[in-house]
Amino acid sequence: MLALNNIEVVYDGVILVLKGVSLNAEEGHITTLLGANGAGKTTTVECIQGLRKPDGGRLRVLGFDPVTQAEQLRPLVGSQLQSSALPDRLRVAEALDLFSTSRARDGGELLEQFGLTQRRRSVFSSLSGGERQRLFLVLALLNRPRLVILDELTQGLDPAARRNVWAAIRQLNDEGTTVLLVTHEMDEAEALCDRVAVMRAGHVIDAGAPADLVERHASTAVIRFSMPDPPAQLLDQVRRLDGVREVARSGARITVRGHRRIVAHVCAALVRWEPVPADLAISQPGLEDALLGLLNGDQEEQAAAVPQHHSSCRPLHPLHSQPG
Ligand code: ATP
Repeated sequence: MLALNNIEVVYDGVILVLKGVSLNAEEGHITTLLGANGAGKTTTVECIQGLRKPDGGRLRVLGFDPVTQAEQLRPLVGSQLQSSALPDRLRVAEALDLFSTSRARDGGELLEQFGLTQRRRSVFSSLSGGERQRLFLVLALLNRPRLVILDELTQGLDPAARRNVWAAIRQLNDEGTTVLLVTHEMDEAEALCDRVAVMRAGHVIDAGAPADLVERHASTAVIRFSMPDPPAQLLDQVRRLDGVREVARSGARITVRGHRRIVAHVCAALVRWEPVPADLAISQPGLEDALLGLLNGDQEEQAAAVPQHHSSCRPLHPLHSQPG
């Protein structure tokens, strides 16, 4: 469906921005490109869309070369891009007419699905940022594409609109559409995707199911609790549990570190030693920790830095690519 083999892109004749990107996405799957700012995600997507000609490597999208077979490929791909724009005076309904082909779905239904029915007579310049984003999504889905490319899908959307868009993407995928998503939102990637490819400095540095990436790059869990006078027997027992790497004590505070599987065992051990500590806190790694581990190469510190259980939903924008 999507096969990139050693893709290279050079800007200004000298700057190698993609340094041999290899990536496969299977038909019917949702694949997400993650990575630090400037890693090359948008450039990769531009190559897939035929907007940029690779300077090296081989690329096939739905079996076609996006540059030399653009005519055949274009009707099969729908794109919602980071930098999309429409003429200011164009009305929403006119945009749908303009982009409709013979394969088009019912535009009215799509507008309804994405909460834009009331805006169908509005001109583009009067739409809010979130409304524009949803309009671009409608246009990307309008012609029943086999592959949908979504760059920063829910950027600027309010929480309810995000959930609606996620539901629509899942439904689309259930109907068989393949999705390529570029995002900085870890909760979005975890909620939607079958497979993640992580980019850094012009390479895909790892790819796999989100759970596999977490296992490979952020398997450390941290459990913290207080016990004013912890029985030595309990600490010994915890130390000997499979997967436990460290039991540290500082006054009444106890910190246990080890593989994610220790969580169940340590909690079970604590339950046997009533009363269960009231301040028991567990830091379980998620996709964001895996990504930080991958990009920074230090999963132990990342896991230890998180004070309590957290959902992996903070955006990644503060990160920057590492050289090499
Ligand atoms: P972000 O997460 O910030 O959107 P990205 O992973 O999508 O980043 P790209 O936009 O593909 O990264 O950019 C990759 C690199 O290529 C960056 O260092 C960027 O500065 C550089 N770059 C992008 N477009 C051009 C251009 N037209 N000319 C020169 N360099 C460019």
